[in-house]
Amino acid sequence: MGSKLKAGIIPAACGGSHYNGLMLHTLPLTALPSWQEQLADLITDPVELLQLLQIDAVRAGYDPAALRSFPLRVTRCYAARMQVGNTDDPLLRQVLPHQLELQSDASLHTDPLAEQQALVAPGILHKYRGRVLLIATQSCAIHCRYCFRRHFPYQDNRLSREEWRSSLAYIAGDSSIDEVILSGGDPLALGNAYLASLLGLLEEIPHVRRVRIHTRLPVVLPDRIDDGLLQLLTKTRLQVVLVVHANHAQEFDAAVVSACRRLGTAGVHLLNQSVLLAGINDDVDTLGDLSEQLFAAGVLPYYLHLPDRVAGTGHFAVSAAAAAALHADLQGRLPGYLVPRLVREDPGATSKTWI
Ligand SMILES: *Cc1c(COP(=O)(O)O)cnc(C)c1O
Ligand code: SF4
Repeated sequence: MGSKLKAGIIPAACGGSHYNGLMLHTLPLTALPSWQEQLADLITDPVELLQLLQIDAVRAGYDPAALRSFPLRVTRCYAARMQVGNTDDPLLRQVLPHQLELQSDASLHTDPLAEQQALVAPGILHKYRGRVLLIATQSCAIHCRYCFRRHFPYQDNRLSREEWRSSLAYIAGDSSIDEVILSGGDPLALGNAYLASLLGLLEEIPHVRRVRIHTRLPVVLPDRIDDGLLQLLTKTRLQVVLVVHANHAQEFDAAVVSACRRLGTAGVHLLNQSVLLAGINDDVDTLGDLSEQLFAAGVLPYYLHLPDRVAGTGHFAVSAAAAAALHADLQGRLPGYLVPRLVREDPGATSKTWI
């Protein structure tokens, strides 16, 4: 990336509709960074982020100790959708290391979902009948402060093709598994060649019918949805479901909508999963707007999760009773297909728990 791009927060590739005025308007078209370049040029310094947004660190609750426990990572195009001067911006609050993360609460855990026990082979979690979850990579384009995997001891290296082949023997040996979920980290942080290789291995297992991709990249790095990826998803014999993780309507701009539409046109079934987060989206107007915005992008709401009980995230908690009341309000104003299922994940359960 040239120093010119670094000087501004927003590479022009991020679209340009309703950005927060920090965009460089003078870049020639040839300077548009690829998604890989954008991924290599994340904002990782909270001071830089706050300066760009003209927000005072103390007023925003920024705490360097919280940064040390889980680093900041955010794409410039996602940061461009944050409101200048707003300490409570719902996108900023999802990424800024906050002093409230340091409050200790004995009921919070580092592995709240007992995922270590569900690890059946390197990179594979099997909890529910019929589907397994692959930790395809440990890296993400954004670090979400509420993330339940923030304490997950990811292997530093992604598995090689041979390692995957040996792990996938587990799936090949269990004919009840017809769906493979690519998760992480963010599986779309992987390049197309790696994904093609992994998909190829899955296609070799006759009883696998569906691949599901859980990713935040259509939202936080829409340029990731490139022609190579679309081709790959069109060509595979597997049915493709892609679950975008959006929490707020403000996360959508023209580039995000277009990325979702392109996926839809490629025959991908699009769903959304959100986390109900105190102070970010825990009111009926915000959730209603999110559902409407999702549908406008061709995405159906799937799950609304109660936050997991994970250390460092207690300040995002919404009680089950408050969540249920909110969900009832939402049902009262939206068509049924725009109301996500309110769920919680209980360790040891055979499915998500509907509330
Ligand atoms: C959430 C989850 C799934 C998927 O559950 P669905 O209800 O099918 O969306 C699968 N495996 C694991 C380990 C999970 O945590
Ligand atoms: S993108 Fe997903 S896995 Fe990565 S930090 Fe955010 S919630 Fe966690």
